[in-house]
Amino acid sequence: MVEILAGVAVNGDTQPVMGTVPVKEEFIKIPEVASYPTGSLDFLFKLQKEEARRQKAMQTSRLINQDELSRVRLNIIIVGAGLGGLAAAIALARKGHKVTVIEQAPALAEVGAGIQIPSNSSRLLLKWGLKPFLDNKIVEPEDIKFRRWENGSVIGLTKLIPEFQENFDAPYYVVHRAHFHDALHQLALQLGVDVQINSKVVEYDAEAPSITTEHGQSFTGDLIICSDGVKSIGRPKVLGGVDQPARRTGFAAYRATVDVEQMRQHPELVDLLAKPGLNLWIGDLRHVMTYTIAGGRSFNMVLSHPDRTDPASWNQKSADEILSDMRSHFNGWDPRLTKIIDMIKTTLKWPLMSGSPLNGWVAPSQKLLIMGDAAHAMVPYMSEGAAMAVEDAAALAEAIDQAGTVKDLPEVLHVWETVRIKRTSEMQEASLINGKLWHFADGPFQRARDEAMRPEVEGKQFVTSPNQWSDPTTQRWCYGYDAEWEIKQAWNQRSSKSKMVNGDA
Ligand SMILES: Cc1cc2nc3c(=O)[nH]c(=O)nc-3n(C[C@H](O)[C@H](O)[C@H](O)COP(=O)(O)OP(=O)(O)OC[C@H]3O[C@@H](n4cnc5c(N)ncnc54)[C@H](O)[C@@H]3O)c2cc1C
Repeated sequence: MVEILAGVAVNGDTQPVMGTVPVKEEFIKIPEVASYPTGSLDFLFKLQKEEARRQKAMQTSRLINQDELSRVRLNIIIVGAGLGGLAAAIALARKGHKVTVIEQAPALAEVGAGIQIPSNSSRLLLKWGLKPFLDNKIVEPEDIKFRRWENGSVIGLTKLIPEFQENFDAPYYVVHRAHFHDALHQLALQLGVDVQINSKVVEYDAEAPSITTEHGQSFTGDLIICSDGVKSIGRPKVLGGVDQPARRTGFAAYRATVDVEQMRQHPELVDLLAKPGLNLWIGDLRHVMTYTIAGGRSFNMVLSHPDRTDPASWNQKSADEILSDMRSHFNGWDPRLTKIIDMIKTTLKWPLMSGSPLNGWVAPSQKLLIMGDAAHAMVPYMSEGAAMAVEDAAALAEAIDQAGTVKDLPEVLHVWETVRIKRTSEMQEASLINGKLWHFADGPFQRARDEAMRPEVEGKQFVTSPNQWSDPTTQRWCYGYDAEWEIKQAWNQRSSKSKMVNGDA
C-alpha cells in the first residue's frame, strides 16, 4: 500500500534503510535514459507519461480543490462503470486517489430511459461539479402528483420547487439515464480517471488485491471496489464465499418513452405536459410513474405490475406480444394514461429485485469491498437505488479521508460499511413499503390512504402522510441525509469512544 503515490522510479536511487550507515563512496549512477537504440525502457516511459498526465489533469482541473486531497492516497481499481462505479471514481479521484475503472461492456452506455436524482444525491453531484456536464438535459420538476388509477384525479401532492431546494439544500432532478451516465463519464475523465472498456473481470484475489479479466490482463491496486451490479461476482468474496443474491419480488416493470411532440397533438394530454412534473398513477397491484426527460422532449414511463413468470421466457415473446401484455395490465385505467400507453412503440421489461441487508461489505483482507446494486439492490419505488450508490461513493471517499495513515484503513472501512449498511437497508425497506402503500385495491385501506393524503392536496397542514415524498419525517430522513457528514460523525464518535475506553477523556 502506498501513502503517497510514487512516480515511476527509473534510476536506482534508493533511500538509506533504517539502521544502516550509507557508505561515503561515489557509486555509478544507473542512467535514466539509454543513449543506444532500445525499446526496452518504453514501458517505463509510458507509465511515467500516464502518471504525469493524471497529475496534470488533477492540478489543472478546477474540479479538484487541492486543500481537500486525502492524506492517504491509494491506487484504486473499480470494477463496473455503471452509475455507481463512475460516481465512486469521481468521489475518489477528487481526493487525489489514482483510479482505474474496469468495465466489461464494449462501449459505455446505460439502458432504460429516465432516472430521478433526488436531493440527497444531487447535493453531492453538484458539489462534485457535474452540473455543466448535464447542460440543458436535466429537468427540474415542480411537483409529484399521485393520481387515482381509474380517472387520474390528484390524490397526493408533493411540492418540489422551491421546497426541496429550501429544505434540503439541493434540487430534485429527472434526467435521461444515458445523459446522466455520459456526464459522470466525462467528469471522471476530466479528473484523470482511467476507464478501460471491453474488460470483463473473471477472477478476484482479495488478498493481493488484484483482478484478472477474461483476456488475461491483471490489475493490482491498494483497494478493489466491486460495483458490478445486482449479479455481482465480487459479492461472494466479501461474504466468505457464499453469495446472498437479491431476490425477485414478484413484480416487474416495463420501461418506455413517448415523444412529447406526439403527445401534444392530443388536447386531453396537454395539461399533463403544461409544467415539468412527476405523475404517478396508483391502483390494484400496479402503478405507472411518469416524467419528462431530455430537456422536456421525451415522456418517460415505468409501468410496474405483478409478474412471477420466468424472465428467461420474456425474450421468447415478439415485440407486439410484449406491448399487448403491457396494455392489458392497464385496461380500464385513466383514459389519458391508456392513450399514452397506446403510443409506446417499444418497451423493455425488467424483473424488480430486492436484496436483504448483508452482514458486511468489506472482505476480510480489508482490500476489497462492494457497493451500489451489488451491495443493496432495491425495488425502484423510492427512486433511490442509484442515489444510494452516489451516497456510498461520497461516504467512502470521506471515510478514507479520515485515515491519517494506511494503518487506519481497516477501521475507516468498517465505519463506512456500518453506516452504509444501516442507511441502505432502511432504504430497501422504505422502497418495499411504497409497494404496499401504492398497491391497495379499491376498498377500506385505499380509502383511508387517500383520505390521509387529502390535506397535502388541499394545501392544509399535515404531520404525517402515506405519501413518503411528503411525510415530513420520511422526507427529512430520505432527502436531508448528508452521506459525508454521517461518516465524519460516526468516525468522531468512535474516536471519542476509544479515548474513553483508554481513559484519555
Ligand atoms: C425500473 C427502474 C427504475 C429506477 N429508477 C431509479 C431512480 O429513479 N433513481 C435512482 O436513484 N435509481 C433508480 N433505479 C435504480 C438504479 O438504476 C440502480 O440502482 C443503479 O443503476 C445501479 O448502479 P450500479 O452501478 O450499482 O449497477 P449497474 O448499473 O448494474 O452497473 C454495473 C456495471 O458493472 C459492469 N459489470 C458487471 N460485471 C462485470 C464484470 N465481471 N467485469 C466488468 N464489469 C462488470 C456492468 O456491465 C455495468 O456497467 C431504478 C431501477 C429500475 C430497475
